[in-house]
Amino acid sequence: NKDYEKMDPELWDAIHDEKKRQDDTIELIASENIASKGVRAAQGSVLTNKYAEGYPGHRYYGGCEYVDKVETLAINRAKELFGAEYVNVQPHSGSQANQAAYAAFLKPGEKILGMDLNAGGHLSHGAKVNFSGKIYQSFTYGVDPQTEQLDYDNIQKIAEEVQPQIIVAGASAYSRIIDWKQFRKIADSVGAYLMVDMAHIAGLVAAGLHPSPVGIADVVTTTTHKTLRGPRGGMILSQEKYAKKIKSAVFPGTQGGPLEQVIAAKAVAFHEDLQPDFLDYSKQILKNANAMADEFNQSDHLRVVSGGTDNHLMTVDLTDTGLNGKQVQDMLDSLMITTNKEAIPNEKLKPTLTSGLRIGTPAITSRGFDEDDSRKVADLIIKAIDNYDDPSVLAQIKGEVAKLCKENPITR
Ligand code: PLP
Repeated sequence: NKDYEKMDPELWDAIHDEKKRQDDTIELIASENIASKGVRAAQGSVLTNKYAEGYPGHRYYGGCEYVDKVETLAINRAKELFGAEYVNVQPHSGSQANQAAYAAFLKPGEKILGMDLNAGGHLSHGAKVNFSGKIYQSFTYGVDPQTEQLDYDNIQKIAEEVQPQIIVAGASAYSRIIDWKQFRKIADSVGAYLMVDMAHIAGLVAAGLHPSPVGIADVVTTTTHKTLRGPRGGMILSQEKYAKKIKSAVFPGTQGGPLEQVIAAKAVAFHEDLQPDFLDYSKQILKNANAMADEFNQSDHLRVVSGGTDNHLMTVDLTDTGLNGKQVQDMLDSLMITTNKEAIPNEKLKPTLTSGLRIGTPAITSRGFDEDDSRKVADLIIKAIDNYDDPSVLAQIKGEVAKLCKENPITR
C-alpha cells in the first residue's frame, strides 16, 4: 500500500528512475557506495520525527530514552571499529564535521594548512570558495611534481613558513598511503594541532588496510557514506581530553537537533563494518582498484597519477588523449558509466574542464565485481576514449556495460 506514491507520482517517478539508473550504471565515483537495505530502513524510520538537541543522557527535550539508546549504540560501535576514546556521531555531513572540528580548535582568523584542491585535497580543507578559506586564513601544500606523492620535507618547510594553528591531512583524490606519523612530527615541530580527514579511506582504516590516524591525530573527521558504506553523514573521533571542546563545537556551536534517523543508520553500518565479511569486501576494493590501474597504465594514452594506487581510487591523466575530463565524463555518462572529472597535479585547465578522471571501486565492489570484471570495465573506458568519435563502437560498449550490470545485480 503505497498511497504516498500515488499522491505524488512526479516525485516518486524520479526516485524510481534513480533506482533504475543505479541498477543499470557502472558506478565509479570514488566517494559513492551502495548502502544496505538495513541502513536505508533506519534512515526512513520514525526516528526522523524526534528532536533530541544535546547528547545521550543530557537532552533539551523529553521523550529521548530510545534515541539515547540509538545514539549510544552508534557511538560504541564506532569506538570499537576505530579504537577511539571519544566519538561524536552527530555531524550531518563531512563538511559539517570539519566545520565543527575547526570551531573546536581554532578562532576565526587563525591559520589552517591543508592539501591543495588540485593535488587532491577537499574544499573544506581551506579552499578560498569554502567557509574554511573565508573564516580562517588558509594555506596549502601539494604533491611533489615528479612523484605526484606527498613530500613531507616540503610540507615541513611550508609549515615552518606559515606557522599554522592546525594542519589538515587527508584527501579526496589521493591514491597513496598517507603517513600520519610524518604529519604528527611536522605538526609538533611548529606547535600545531593535527587534524586528519579520513573521509575517503575510513572503511579501509576500519578494516586495517590503511594505517589508522586515530591516536596519532588530535582530531579525526570522516564521512560515513563512502568506504564505510553507511548513510550520508559525518563523524568526529578524538582523544577523551578534547571531548568537551568537540561536543560544544557540534552542538550548540554549529548544529541544532541531530538527525537521529541518520545516526541509527550509522549504527547499522558500523555493525555491518564490524562483521568479518567487511574485511573481505575491503580487500576486494583494493584488488579491483589495482586491476583497473594496471589496465590504464598498460594503455597507450592513459596513465594513473603517481603511477598507481594503494587504496580504493585513482586519478587517470587524460592529457595525451586530447580530451579533457568533462568530455570524457559526459561521454562515459552516455554509456552508463559514472565517473567525475578531476584536477591533476600541475593542472592547466579550469576546474570545470580538468585533465583527469577520478575512478573508485567501492560501489562496483559492493555489487560483486571482481578483478576480471574491473579489468573489463577499465578496458571499456580505454576503448571508449580511443573511439570517442565512433558512435557504432560506443553503442557496442554500452551493450557491454548493460551486460556487466545484469551479471552483477545490486542485491543490497
Ligand atoms: N572530506 C573529504 C576528504 C571528502 O572527500 C568529502 C567529500 O567528498 C568531504 C570531506 C565532505 O563530505 P560531505 O560531502 O558529506 O560534506
